[in-house]
Amino acid sequence: MQYFSLSTNVNELRIGNDSSKNIGKEIGKFVVSTMEIPWNIIKDKLGQSPEKVIDVTSVELSWIEGQINDLPEFDTIVGIGGGMAIDVAKYISWKLGKRLVSIPTILSVDAFTTPAAGIRNNHDVQYLGTASPDPLIIDYNILRSAPKELNIAGIGDLFSIHTASFDWTYAHSKGKSEYPFSEDAITGGKKILEFIYNNIGNIKENNNNGLRAIVEAYISLNTICLPIDHFRIEEGSEHYLFYELEERLKRPFIHGNIIGLGIYLLSRLQNNDPYFITEMMDESGLVYHPFSMNIKREDLIDSLLNLKNFVKSKDKLWYTVIDDSYIEMEWINQNISELKFN
Ligand SMILES: [Zn+2]
Repeated sequence: MQYFSLSTNVNELRIGNDSSKNIGKEIGKFVVSTMEIPWNIIKDKLGQSPEKVIDVTSVELSWIEGQINDLPEFDTIVGIGGGMAIDVAKYISWKLGKRLVSIPTILSVDAFTTPAAGIRNNHDVQYLGTASPDPLIIDYNILRSAPKELNIAGIGDLFSIHTASFDWTYAHSKGKSEYPFSEDAITGGKKILEFIYNNIGNIKENNNNGLRAIVEAYISLNTICLPIDHFRIEEGSEHYLFYELEERLKRPFIHGNIIGLGIYLLSRLQNNDPYFITEMMDESGLVYHPFSMNIKREDLIDSLLNLKNFVKSKDKLWYTVIDDSYIEMEWINQNISELKFN
């Protein structure tokens, strides 16, 4: 097992086989934020029982506040699971000023390395507060007990650097960037992409090196994005297609997978090396075709036709290639022809 001290929001990283073992003995009284499947995998490993287990069924602010009202006295909140369980733990850590321990059981989303809790307020995405895991625990054996595809999904939010950095550069070229443009941030993002491309075989295999590559890439992303206070090199038009689909279909998705679909389509709208990034996604085993997410052809078409209006109706969304686009049926038919639908 290895211990790292990091200059990001992650106070300490414990990474290794069985690195979560007996953590319950070190953190005082603790409450767990989790879901049934991850909790069953890990509960006998912690070495101590929690004061309470929150079964996370929602990331709506009102739901989380309701849970907070029911908590016993405790020292540490432990987030165990995927994005939702960790986000709820982060919110509680920030709101109550408690120590946070994060134990992701899948890597499908970057929630475990980012400081703000991604929650929903009346279905709108909001990022609230700051919370730093102390420690972040990456237990390879726990991660490998999840289906491979869920860990591979973790690279969706890394491949998105390809399209998001393009969007930021584009916005800057039009004088529309919301933030001071940073060539260094763009270059740093490219290095992360290179690192991921070089580890693609390991990531597909779900071996220790692959899992570690995803975690390290996320932490590197934070070292770039936290000082400048935004994630514009990683979040752009590919995420906006996901927001539109989420609002349209009103159901959750595996984050990295739907971001992969966004990267596929928006890299084409951008004319931004779409065949290369598609090949990388294919080689990694990322699941991004609509059929795998139960997205019907008509829904994707409607979503793409509405995308520009959707983006313009949300003032918080950044300027991207979508703002100047004309997405029409001809373009859609050409660009979805190789996507697989049911
Ligand atoms: Zn994302």
